[in-house]
Amino acid sequence: MKKLVNELTWSVSRAQLFQACQRAYYYTYYGAWGGWEDDASPETRKLYILKNIKPLAMWAGSLVHSLIKDTLDEFARSGQWPETAALQEQARNRMNAGWKEAVGREWEQYPSRRTNLFELYYGNGRTLPAETTNALRERVFTCLESFVMSPTVREILALPYSSWKTNDVLDTFMSNDVKVWCALDFAYIDADGICHILDWKTGVENRITLRQQLACYALYAMSKWNVPLDKLSLHGVFLLDGGRKSDYPVQPELLVSVQDQIVTSSQAMRAKLRDPEKNVAEEEDFPCAPSEYGCEQCSFREVCPALSR
Ligand code: SF4
Repeated sequence: MKKLVNELTWSVSRAQLFQACQRAYYYTYYGAWGGWEDDASPETRKLYILKNIKPLAMWAGSLVHSLIKDTLDEFARSGQWPETAALQEQARNRMNAGWKEAVGREWEQYPSRRTNLFELYYGNGRTLPAETTNALRERVFTCLESFVMSPTVREILALPYSSWKTNDVLDTFMSNDVKVWCALDFAYIDADGICHILDWKTGVENRITLRQQLACYALYAMSKWNVPLDKLSLHGVFLLDGGRKSDYPVQPELLVSVQDQIVTSSQAMRAKLRDPEKNVAEEEDFPCAPSEYGCEQCSFREVCPALSR
């Protein structure tokens, strides 16, 4: 199999991590690279395992997203739409399977393909308080119920499949010579030719971060599908809040500022490299930036020198 090449690319989450703590950024994008190979060093393998740990809230969010994707794909194939209870049952099965993987440490063999939960990894490895796991299940169930009942989803189901543009597929686009990764949750064209981009949210609304995320999706739609600015409409759908749709105006100045941010931020990342052409980085060039909140939730706390002093 052809060896993967580690490229310097950009994404909203990469930029946020670079801002928050450069050492965590180094571990994620350089230290863990190649940790899937049979001949990876123990240090690389360890970082690769840590990189793939998910906190419970993120795990719940990805479970909901994968079920939404599968449900919409299945509807496109068969026209079948599930009852809420059936979807919740699928979620229960996936949660039970993921829990078994985490407790059974199956991630030791398959770090990226088996669930590894932050709260268990840095806890006793076997149990969490019943209130925590019950609240997690309720959160997932509520999100799925809102999704099934959501008026936004009903609008999607009434459209011909040919008007669907994408359903949660990871892709890239170029912005000023920088390769940008993004995965739009869902996009469709309505009868008036407007391209609606939706972001399913399983947490509370943060207008600042969502504005930036959606602006990045708008750039993707303009670059990949040639959608003009005045034909774009951006929305967050809040599944913990009954599927409430929150609209985000498409402001040209915001898109320009996100394009500028992609350039500035990727230049700052490049400036840290020992060999920018080959994308070679050295750990010592990426300082730890300890903060109570950041370190408490950081997957790399086990190996981070800032915490072992
Ligand atoms: S534990 Fe704190 S200082 Fe260390 S990598 Fe994580 S966020 Fe950075």
